Amino acid sequence: DNAQPKKPSWIRVKAPGGKGYAETAKIMRDNNLVTVCEEAGCPNVGECWSQGHATMMIMGEVCTRACTFCNIATGKPPEDLDVFEPGRVADAVQKLGLNHVVITSVDRDDIADGGAEHFAQTIRAVRHRSPDTTIEILTPDFIRCGPEALEKVVEARPDVFNHNLETVPGLYPEVRPGARYFHSLRLLQRVKELDPSMFTKSGIMVGLGEDRQSVIQVMEDMRAADIDFLTIGQYLQPTPKHHRVDRFVHPDEFAAYEKSAYGKGFLMVSATPLTRSSYHAGDDFAQLRAA
Ligand code: SF4
Ligand code: SF4
Repeated sequence: DNAQPKKPSWIRVKAPGGKGYAETAKIMRDNNLVTVCEEAGCPNVGECWSQGHATMMIMGEVCTRACTFCNIATGKPPEDLDVFEPGRVADAVQKLGLNHVVITSVDRDDIADGGAEHFAQTIRAVRHRSPDTTIEILTPDFIRCGPEALEKVVEARPDVFNHNLETVPGLYPEVRPGARYFHSLRLLQRVKELDPSMFTKSGIMVGLGEDRQSVIQVMEDMRAADIDFLTIGQYLQPTPKHHRVDRFVHPDEFAAYEKSAYGKGFLMVSATPLTRSSYHAGDDFAQLRAA
């Protein structure tokens, strides 16, 4: 039975439109860039783009993984990495005048270093053109690469290193095949060991079939790996072929997660139905730095 629970009133999404939205869309198009906002059908696109916030996705539009919640096309990527892409990302960041940029990618298990060098080049290009912009990266797990892949990315010194655990460990085989929960945790712990000044961040979706206790356990695992920032949002099914929504988590439950996360020592927590990994990332980070 693939019947979905009915969408509750708190999942309300503003239709995209307006001047800021059109400008962001044009800069992305002119620079031939892919955004996760569009590819993932993010519910916040209207709000984010009208404020010039966007999450760019590098290394192509086809992912070598097939997570069952994700709307990105899966398969063998048709193209090599585009050596001009770091420059185009840097150009777009400058034109958008971003204070904070989030850069993510598809997984490229077909490339020996998983795209680590490309990530590092993109960070360097953005920093060169926009030295005051803080840079947040949301990376793949580099599971098939040696330790030097991660080291390369860390050496490029992004301000925030984000890698999402996505769900509780018990749901990995079903939701995130090809990934390993403890590998992902360890990746983030390793970032902190390599550069203790770097902020680390992770997130999960709820409503995939997890129970509350396992969400609390994930928070504890994250803190044991020294992860600084946490996001928790409601999973929404992108198409009927994707993982079904098990339940819509009530805003009160999100508030309870947020409270308990702060109690466990996270520096920054966003836990609401429409929280996404990159939602308000810049505002939250600016607040933290000003504090
Ligand atoms: Fe894009 Fe993130 Fe905003 Fe969604 S929340 S529209 S992915 S910047
Ligand atoms: Fe989507 Fe990332 Fe999974 Fe690829 S690795 S299918 S882009 S969530």
